[in-house]
Amino acid sequence: MVEIDPFEMAVQQLERAAQFMDISEEALEWLKKPMRIVEVSVPLEMDDGSVKVFTGFRVQHNWARGPTKGGIRWHPAETLSTVKALATWMTWKVAVVDLPYGGGKGGIIVNPKELSEREKERLARNYIRAIYDVISPYTDIPAPDVYTNPQIMAWMMDEYEVISRRKVPSFGIITGKPPGVGGIVARMDATARGAAFTVREAAKALGMDLKDKTIAIQGYGNAGYYMAKIMSEEYGMKVVAVSDSKGGIYNPDGLNADEILEWKKKNGSVKDFPGATNITNEELLELEVDVLAPSAIEGVITKDNADKIKAKIVAELANGPTTPEADEILHEKGVLIIPDFLCNAGGVTVSYFEWVQNITGDYWDTETTRAKLDKKMTKAFWDVYNTHKDKNINMRDAAYVVAVQRVYDAMKWRGWVK
Ligand code: GLU
Repeated sequence: MVEIDPFEMAVQQLERAAQFMDISEEALEWLKKPMRIVEVSVPLEMDDGSVKVFTGFRVQHNWARGPTKGGIRWHPAETLSTVKALATWMTWKVAVVDLPYGGGKGGIIVNPKELSEREKERLARNYIRAIYDVISPYTDIPAPDVYTNPQIMAWMMDEYEVISRRKVPSFGIITGKPPGVGGIVARMDATARGAAFTVREAAKALGMDLKDKTIAIQGYGNAGYYMAKIMSEEYGMKVVAVSDSKGGIYNPDGLNADEILEWKKKNGSVKDFPGATNITNEELLELEVDVLAPSAIEGVITKDNADKIKAKIVAELANGPTTPEADEILHEKGVLIIPDFLCNAGGVTVSYFEWVQNITGDYWDTETTRAKLDKKMTKAFWDVYNTHKDKNINMRDAAYVVAVQRVYDAMKWRGWVK
């Protein structure tokens, strides 16, 4: 894979989208830059009494539509460029589903696997101390992301409250918290459920009935597992293949999502699941299926294999699984792509619901949350699909046009740009 600087890529995508719309040069230039970049030193007293200092970031890309929103990653290979790119993509993600937010992202360069639980707690608290001045329930609202989880969100929320001497609505300082400390009940499967709604609508657009149709899912983390479960149990689809980083499995008669999860927990991989044939991740992508859901890593559908993709719908639960060259090949073949920042926007949408509950004090049941998610995702799908048809551009370009236009409009209303 060619290594391209992630932020450079985000800028290029924006420039490409600009060709299909009427946007002023000054707005475009502004959107190529995050509005605020914060770099902090995060000290951590290790369990042995020594002190280490980690580098942390918080990037707020654009807040024309509202407070910035986005996860916090704890990753040993974290870079400012990655955080800037991800913050930019968050701006488009929240805009395409029409949430009243801008995009942000945070990160710490750290390998959390080398930390004890107590060390993780102190790191979480110290990060909040370091970025306290630039976050609040009404300016920038973090959430979980790579290697962070509800427990870490709870510590961060607690630290924010300790410093600010406030309770409600400061629960709304961060989302993805455990239920009971302001978390929302339906967060766990939100990304997959949101993606499932877009697949359902995509099938409608193609006149396809999902019942008894086949789906292959690459990746069996949170998104992949719930996608398998929801598509089989609620939509009657046959999950014929799934995979993880070690390899995949195939069974034309269909696989059971929970049984595979059990197997993976016990054996460390979905591989060798009884009754299924082992396949590679590459083979999974090229299977004769109706829906393909890349739900793991970026850059898996490229110009080398795009021609061999047989699915009619590609639902991108992962970020950036399809390269720009592959996009065009799939578009020409008539494959309907549900682009990543539309397809996987269910997570941040339910985060938004969590925040709404926190700041209003009105808590809903799972049914209500899911119905609201359905409405948001369905509307977003058709906004993008109709733009794709009207302008005769591919689905990713269409998603960009919808999102960038919304941000541009907000900037104009505020009098920031012409
Ligand atoms: N990190 C997730 C995302 O990128 C969730 C962000 C959020 O919930 O605010 O969509």
